[in-house]
Parts: sequence; structure tokens; C-alpha cells
Amino acid sequence: MTSANASVNLDKINLLDYDRKGLQAFFVEMGEKPFRATQLLKWIYQEGVEDFDQMTNLSKTLRAWLQDHCCIKAPEIVAEQKASDGTYKWVMQMSCGNRVETVYIPEEKRGTLCVSSQVGCALACTFCSTARQGFNRNLTVAEIIGQLYVAQNRLGPQQKITNVVMMGMGEPLLNFDNVVTAMNLMMDDFCYGLSKRRVTVSTSGVVPAMRRLHDVCDVSVAVSLHAATDELRDVLVPINQKYPLRELMAACRDYAKQGPRKHITFEYVMLDGINDSERDAKALIRLLSHVPSKVNLIPFNPFPQTDYRCSKPETILRFRDILHNAGIVTTIRKTRGDDIDAACGQLVGQVQDKSRRHLKLQRAGVQHVA
Ligand code: SAH
Repeated sequence: MTSANASVNLDKINLLDYDRKGLQAFFVEMGEKPFRATQLLKWIYQEGVEDFDQMTNLSKTLRAWLQDHCCIKAPEIVAEQKASDGTYKWVMQMSCGNRVETVYIPEEKRGTLCVSSQVGCALACTFCSTARQGFNRNLTVAEIIGQLYVAQNRLGPQQKITNVVMMGMGEPLLNFDNVVTAMNLMMDDFCYGLSKRRVTVSTSGVVPAMRRLHDVCDVSVAVSLHAATDELRDVLVPINQKYPLRELMAACRDYAKQGPRKHITFEYVMLDGINDSERDAKALIRLLSHVPSKVNLIPFNPFPQTDYRCSKPETILRFRDILHNAGIVTTIRKTRGDDIDAACGQLVGQVQDKSRRHLKLQRAGVQHVA
């Protein structure tokens, strides 16, 4: 599960940091043909070969040069947990002692990997425990694509990762260049070849970056909305003070016009007594009336030192029905079983919540396997 070259010296160039365009430029600069890039990508991502000497369609001289100057260094799995429903949660060791979580959720027709983009998070969403850790640093391209690389190698060919959601730790659009490069690799036919409909970036609403995304990377977008008025969203998702709903909705409308799914998915965490009333649902319907939307209601996952509570199951169902009746496709994020508590347990992997993780994993049927 670890790179064979994991212990190489740090001065070497990590080839996981480059997408196809980057590798082509890299090879041209050293006097090689650009098609070396696709050969190398296939070896790494499709053949799982990390030893340059085994890359037999590269010349001997090139192989020796790569051996001396380059490495393939992915994050390392330092803990693994497997739930009874097949969900995996991995703690991945990055450089400088940083660790992030990656989650794999198997379903009947797809396997979804939830990938982190930063160590910690600079945004201060009040209901999110990652926010409590503050921001440490951006992940590199190698550390982002490396989560997919390591996870797919670990799962093996029987369990294909078909979907990626950038919904782990961090705000992906605040690590724009690295996230875009990593997503390009995910969608590249010479790497994982995932369809652009199956790669989703989730954002708290960094409007200028959403607009830039349009131009460089055609992926699906999910927006963490959580409130339908500026007054409440300013509190729950403070970046709203900088990019208020009017600007966010305009950016969503524009993205939906060109985006691969022709709609935006809005995530809405269900907080008891805060954003879950009939009035809130109606405000949400009004807000979304000009944007092709789907809504994903997320039962709040509590953590220590939070005053928020998850909405009652019947409140969530009523909220969903109100949206449904207004013609908005609305789902409730959940595990296989349809009980709401299990859905809350499912979200453990998305928030760094060390102290109660143990208890919640037990409740969700997670056992230690490593
Ligand atoms: N920063 C990005 C992606 C990371 S969070 C974003 O904001 O979209 C992925 C999703 O989990 C977001 O919708 C986030 O709001 C939600 N989330 C965070 N903490 C949560 C919690 N305690 N319970 C339920 N959902 C939570």
C-alpha cells in the first residue's frame, strides 16, 4: 500500500505531483518526446508499477535517469477501519507528520472515495469540527491524487473507485491549483478515466474560485449552503460575509449552465431549531427557484463542545417533503440502512473528531482491522 520509493531522499521529484500536461512539459524540457508522459502515467496509475526499471517501453537511459532523479511517493495508510457495511476509513500520513482521513463508501453500482484537500481548514463554519483545528497547510497534488492511488491499490481491482467527492478535510477551492491538477489526473483516460459527472468538488462558496473553475476543469459542483438567508448563513458559514447569497447563487446559476450535470447539488446540514423549520424550507425554495438544483440534506454529526444538535428524524422528513412538493429533488444522506442515526455515524470520516470517534464507530458497526 505504500510507495516502494517511500524512503527515497526528499530532493527527488515526485512524479505524482504532475498531470499529463505537466509531465509532457517535464519530458520536453529534458529533451524527450511528450508521449513519454502517457507511457509513464499508464505505468503508474494503470499498471501499478513503481519501479522505473520495469517500465520497459522507456529507454534504458531514461529509466536510469528517472531512477536517480525522480520518485513515486504517495501518502501512507497508518490506520484502517472497516465498517460492517464495507465502508473503509483510512488515516493517511502525509509529510511533516500531518495526517488526514480518506473514506471509501461502496454501494451497489458505485464506489465513492471521499478525499481531503487540506490539513485542517481556514474557514470557521460553526458546525464543523475540522474548523476547530484551524488551518495547517494545503495538500500537494501528490497527496491529493495519492489518496486515490493508495486507496485503489489497497482495495484491488475487485473494488473499483468509480466516484470521487472532494468532501474530506479542507476547502478544496482554497487549494485551487493542486486540487484542479489532481482532478485532471482523476479524469485522465491514461490515469483513472473517471467521468466528469463522477468527480465532485464541494465548496462552502468561494465565488471567484467557482467562476475560475468553469474555465479550467469541468467537474460537478456541490455547494455547502446550510442556510437560505444571509443573516443565518453569515453565522453558520462565515465566508458568506465575503460572498453573500446573491453572488453565490449567480455563480451557481452560471456554473450549472455549463457544468457536466446541468444542476448544482446543495448540501444542507440539518440543525435542530436553527435551520430546519417550515419557514426555512420555504426560504430555501425561494432561494433555489432560479438555479437548477438538487438538495442533499445532511443529518448533523455532533462532536464535543458543540451546542448544535441534529434535527429530529421527523423534522428532516418533513423538510424533505416540503422541498419535494415544490419540485426540488431532495435526498437525505444516509448509510445503507435507512435509519437516520446510522447516517450521522457515516459522517464521522468527514470531520476530525478524535475523542468521540471511537464511540460513534462502534455505533456504526466499525471494527478495527489494522
Ligand atoms: N469545505 C468543503 C468540503 C468539506 S466538508 C465544503 O464546505 O463543502 C463536506 C460536507 O460536510 C460539507 O457540506 C460540510 O458542511 C459538511 N459538514 C461539516 N461538518 C459537519 C457535521 N458536523 N455534520 C454534518 N455535516 C458536516
